[in-house]
Amino acid sequence: MHAARPCLPRLVATLSLLIVLLPSVRAASVFDWRQHDWERPRPKAIDPGTSSTPDKPGKAPSDAVVLFDGSSLAGWVSLDGGEPKWVIRDGVLECAKGSGYIRTVQAFGDCQLHVEWAAPTPPEGTSQGRGNSGVFLMGLYEVQVLDSHENRTYADGQAAALYGQHPPLVNASRPPGQWQTYDIVFTRPRFDEQGQLLSPARVTVLHNGVLVQHESELVGPTGWLERAPYRAHENKLPLSLQDHGNPVRYRNLWIRELGRDAQDQEITLRTQDLDPLVGRYDAGGGASLTITRPGALLHAAIAYPGKSMSFPLHARSKDAFFIRSFDGQLTFQRRPDGTADEVIFRIGGEDRRGKRQP
Ligand code: MG
Repeated sequence: MHAARPCLPRLVATLSLLIVLLPSVRAASVFDWRQHDWERPRPKAIDPGTSSTPDKPGKAPSDAVVLFDGSSLAGWVSLDGGEPKWVIRDGVLECAKGSGYIRTVQAFGDCQLHVEWAAPTPPEGTSQGRGNSGVFLMGLYEVQVLDSHENRTYADGQAAALYGQHPPLVNASRPPGQWQTYDIVFTRPRFDEQGQLLSPARVTVLHNGVLVQHESELVGPTGWLERAPYRAHENKLPLSLQDHGNPVRYRNLWIRELGRDAQDQEITLRTQDLDPLVGRYDAGGGASLTITRPGALLHAAIAYPGKSMSFPLHARSKDAFFIRSFDGQLTFQRRPDGTADEVIFRIGGEDRRGKRQP
């Protein structure tokens, strides 16, 4: 029989190796597989849903997060986190003038977003005053919603413009009162650890099925009378809908997270759920895991004699957390009082255990 090996030295070695290798890890390539390789993982099968008709909203794909299906605003709050004041009428969400923007509870990064909207009829106002609203990706980057049917305004402010930056390739607007669709593919900007921009946000938009933005690159967040530079932000932020004082209507809103962002499903925990997990966990061999809460997130310091590394922990549930910079996961075993006896941490596919120290 083998003697139990101290697990932490190998863990620390794995971690160090991961960190050294991470910057050089390349994206999966077609050349990672032999052509027609039977072993190559097949894409997951989903139900693609149905398209909408003028009278009836369609059904979202089975792997989408449904943001609004006509029944409730459960996934939405006002910008300050309070009750959203937009109204649901006959299964349709309507902007209530002066009620403020609404935003999703859940945060999103790279995504495919489906939006259906209709401008008020009869039309009132002119230029930017007619049927104005907007879809703010990450709450920062606006795809303009405007009644652009026989309504002249500046090109970078009409329907399907990336407001203040890119006009749509064509004006594919329908008359006010008719349902219109946006199908948006969004790649969020990337920032390095110092907050420097690595790559800008890119947006593709199909307006009523017509390509109107093709990988358009944003120079920064949406601004009026200004083009502000990028400021580093989280990988995921809530999506918001604009109140511009017009009763624009929305229906059938859904979103599909893309790429790695789809795996990092993060929720926000209250500090009273986080604090009971703070403490020191003994992993054997003189090694330990120390959980602290320096701010809104827990941090894990993995220590071995002569070496210590610390990482922010992002919550997947009340008990399960992940590390963004490499594939690390922690699961706490909670007692009825909310504190934890033990933490299981999985790094590089291997599970380790840490026992809570008194
Ligand atoms: Mg707008």
